Amino acid sequence: MTQTDAGWVKIVGLGPGNETMVTVQVQDVLAEATDVVGYIPYVKRIPERPGLTLHATDNRVEIERATHALEMAAAGQRVAVVSSGDPGVFAMASAVFEALEVGKPDWLDLDIQVLPGITAMLAASARIGAPMGHDFAAINLSDNLKPWSLIEKRLRLAGEAGFAMGFYNPRSKSRPHQFGRALEILREACGGDTLISFARDVSKPGETITTVTLNEATPAMADMRTVVIVGNADTRRVGRHVYTPRYATEG
Ligand code: SAH
Repeated sequence: MTQTDAGWVKIVGLGPGNETMVTVQVQDVLAEATDVVGYIPYVKRIPERPGLTLHATDNRVEIERATHALEMAAAGQRVAVVSSGDPGVFAMASAVFEALEVGKPDWLDLDIQVLPGITAMLAASARIGAPMGHDFAAINLSDNLKPWSLIEKRLRLAGEAGFAMGFYNPRSKSRPHQFGRALEILREACGGDTLISFARDVSKPGETITTVTLNEATPAMADMRTVVIVGNADTRRVGRHVYTPRYATEG
């Protein structure tokens, strides 16, 4: 097989939604790909062109999707696996490596690369000001792939340790009560005056950003199109901006 027939898998991040936030590196990969694999709304963002096959699949079939990408690359195709934001943040990069680990031994020789994108938490932080200016934790509030008890533990300990936090998948129709419980834990661990921002559809039409205190926050402020940012004890407002200083006063 010559270099030009050699297939590859490039797992790329499309950023939070605005096309100006897709890196040039990722645009180049999408221009060279023969196949694009991903969750339906992300694949919809890729323009059709001759020579490109789009493979859009439903949510929660990440391993099948990853396996399909590896099979196509092994057959010589150039496969872009797309995620929103960054592919390493609660997205397809780990799914491809999980599939690789249990897949055909030959696949270990494939050209597999991960190309970063702007993750929702950091796109939202930039719109808010600099709430992640000191130490922070990113937590997925979905209990699809881990027990809810572990999520509660991580929320409590991260809050007590004074991390600012970014929450992905904060509240879905299938688990309407858990986000209210998360807010209760945060009030206990961080104090009710701590600032919390709800950033919905960041960088997309209709973007909204709302900052309140934990005491004022209600579960209805979040949905699956929202990333939630909680500050630490030093996070404060300056004019219309919210920021966390680079230093910590408690400890
Ligand atoms: N890999 C993605 C995250 C996938 S999990 C990334 O790095 O951003 C999906 C969750 O990301 C959503 O439930 C929401 O919490 C968040 N999210 C993704 N895009 C967003 C956007 N434009 N605005 C607000 N939240 C977003």
